[in-house]
Amino acid sequence: MINDLRNLTIDEARELCVRMGEKPFRAQQIFSWLYKGKSSVQSVGEIVSLSAAFREQLENAGWDVGVLRVLAHQISAQDGTEKYLFELEDGNAVESVLMRYEYGYTVCVSTQAGCRMGCSFCASGLNGLVRDLTAGEIVSQVIDIMRNSRIKVNHVVFMGTGEPFDNYENVSRAVKILTEPQGTGMSARSITVSTSGIVPVIRRFGDDFPQVNLAISLHAPDDEIRRDIMPVAKAYPIKELISACDAYVEKTNRRVTFEYALIRGVNDSTECMHKLAELLSGHLAHVNLIPLNEVDETGLKSSGRGRAVEFRKYLETHGVPASVRRELGSDIDGACGQLRNRMQKQDQTNM
Ligand code: SF4
Repeated sequence: MINDLRNLTIDEARELCVRMGEKPFRAQQIFSWLYKGKSSVQSVGEIVSLSAAFREQLENAGWDVGVLRVLAHQISAQDGTEKYLFELEDGNAVESVLMRYEYGYTVCVSTQAGCRMGCSFCASGLNGLVRDLTAGEIVSQVIDIMRNSRIKVNHVVFMGTGEPFDNYENVSRAVKILTEPQGTGMSARSITVSTSGIVPVIRRFGDDFPQVNLAISLHAPDDEIRRDIMPVAKAYPIKELISACDAYVEKTNRRVTFEYALIRGVNDSTECMHKLAELLSGHLAHVNLIPLNEVDETGLKSSGRGRAVEFRKYLETHGVPASVRRELGSDIDGACGQLRNRMQKQDQTNM
């Protein structure tokens, strides 16, 4: 395995430079070349502001740039959404998505290969957790998309495969690297981390990153339904979850986004609609209603956009701001984890 320069925070890069007999400011040079957006370097040899001797010293010590190999790249004809399947150094694969909005480009990154959380509607968790991604592998998804798609990324959302708060150390490190002014200089306010509801980490997150946005995959208005579709709810009931979100709001003064995927016959009843409004009314919250991205293996069906609009109207008339998410990239393998699963199946049939 290489020593990935993209896995280092700026302080660690400074320490590395000093250990190798160089001045600490060389770390700034390394960062500016690693995170040059569309023209980010892909090897130590390309960091030409470093002396040839220092570059050779880095290479001899096993340092390199952890560029990801593109295994598949799909572009939606409908809305330009791009889905990447990247190969990691050990042969595992992860998905990342580039979305185009009026206000700029958003990349959705994966934080784990597979996921252990077992949500019943999700393609990513079907085969369990394979391993955590390193911070470098998370950062590389953003940088390699900038380079491959020739764009500047404005927002990063940690909503792809994996539970970010089940890999908190690497996710925190990735946020620090992405927001380093000497690197991409991305604002913390343009980053959103989404969790299925690991309460102790939500409490810590508000202290560690008061500027970063928090999203909660809620998907049910009560514990009974939530426990059926999201095993995490057995450990952390809704009351504790909402209380941790309130503590985050108090510390950060930032509103929390609650994601709610509408699944036919599961969480889309009128009773659910009323309970959801009651649960979130009076909290600094926004509900993002998502017509479910159907995954063949789960057998679950979407309630449709019309039902999502009914939920939105009801929530808004009861003082809970809500929106219906656009279905981006529905003509490509839309749901998170689908492209990776399809490629794995193809590999198995080709064996
Ligand atoms: S929805 Fe998120 S947390 Fe749940 S299994 Fe899928 S990737 Fe994991």
